[in-house]
Amino acid sequence: MTTGTWSAPGRVNLIGEHTDYNEGFVLPFAIEYRTSVALATRDDARIRVSSSFDPEPVEVAIADLAEIFPDGRDQVPEWARYPLGVAWALLQATGADAVAGVELAITSDVPIGAGLSSSAAIEGATASALNDVWELGLDRVALARIGRTAENEAVGAPTGIMDQMASMLGREDAAIFLDCRSLDAQVVDLGFAAAGLELLVMDTHVTHAHSTGGYGERRAACERGAEIMGVPALRDLTPEDLPRAQELMDDVTFRRVRHVVTEDQRVLDTVAILAGSGPEAIGPLLLASHASMRDDFEISVPELDTAVEAAMAAGAIGARMTGGGFGGAAIALVRHADVPAVTDAVTAAFADRGFSAPNIFTVLPSAGAGRDA
Ligand code: ADP
Ligand code: MG
Repeated sequence: MTTGTWSAPGRVNLIGEHTDYNEGFVLPFAIEYRTSVALATRDDARIRVSSSFDPEPVEVAIADLAEIFPDGRDQVPEWARYPLGVAWALLQATGADAVAGVELAITSDVPIGAGLSSSAAIEGATASALNDVWELGLDRVALARIGRTAENEAVGAPTGIMDQMASMLGREDAAIFLDCRSLDAQVVDLGFAAAGLELLVMDTHVTHAHSTGGYGERRAACERGAEIMGVPALRDLTPEDLPRAQELMDDVTFRRVRHVVTEDQRVLDTVAILAGSGPEAIGPLLLASHASMRDDFEISVPELDTAVEAAMAAGAIGARMTGGGFGGAAIALVRHADVPAVTDAVTAAFADRGFSAPNIFTVLPSAGAGRDA
């Protein structure tokens, strides 16, 4: 019997929101909160998963994975579609069969549904474990793709690849500058520690559902915009193309397009500023990103706007909502000494407006997925 433990982190996206599926740029970093998979091989050809999130184990024959996914996914509980979907996607992608049965016990301290990508963490941990134990030989980028395939096809959530890449490739005190078209990824030093900066996450507790509603509508608007402009993806447009876009499309589609095009530019500017002036200088870009999501992409909610406004009023360098939107978390870049004041101000602003108390905590840019034991 083979045993071992693998883990993968959640992530925060510093900037570059809803640009990933438009084949553009993102700048996420892995955080210190992780999902772990303890694996033991079995004598039979079955796969059994359990999670601290839902103690009821789910067990299926490995040969049945191809019947369950993609169309029969209702046969297993939603959470189990993540790890079982990863197993299915791995076998599909590699053509491997006759792999060993496995028992996977999943634990996590990544907050679920808070915009920190607990989904990429469970995918990355599972993919890393099975890749090693089944000796599939896939590299980290290939494993990120496996995670996306599982999430898109086995879970049925139409997400991009940013979260999985951040979770697979993260490094300490660094972000991953990712070109979502080529999947070329560069490690970009953040220098938060040297500059005395902290990254605060302000979880609003407002829940979002990626697989439904607004997210799909935004993706469709982006596809429509690219089609009208005659380009494969919005990535192919620059801010200079926006006047022509405005002439050619309806107001809503145009504003969706403008968010993506200007957001791509803000990611490029952030990378340049980090390498030049340093992290204290990226505040205005974070704020502009938030305004674009609030006004043009229309994916913010009053709780997120309140968090950003209150953090800025209390001295944050920059702040924005992060993640897919419609709830989840905002982030603020804050000088170490200002963390208590910003935390108190955001908490007080939530109380004033009758919102339930936010959960506010710092995150540290951290290492990506790997084997722990
Ligand atoms: P997030 O922003 O946290 O990624 P998602 O909706 O994309 O939110 O993914 C959350 C879902 O992923 C959960 O509802 C659950 O189905 C699954 N999931 C995440 N972490 C775990 C875990 N540790 N155990 C079981 N399922 C998990
Ligand atoms: Mg997710």
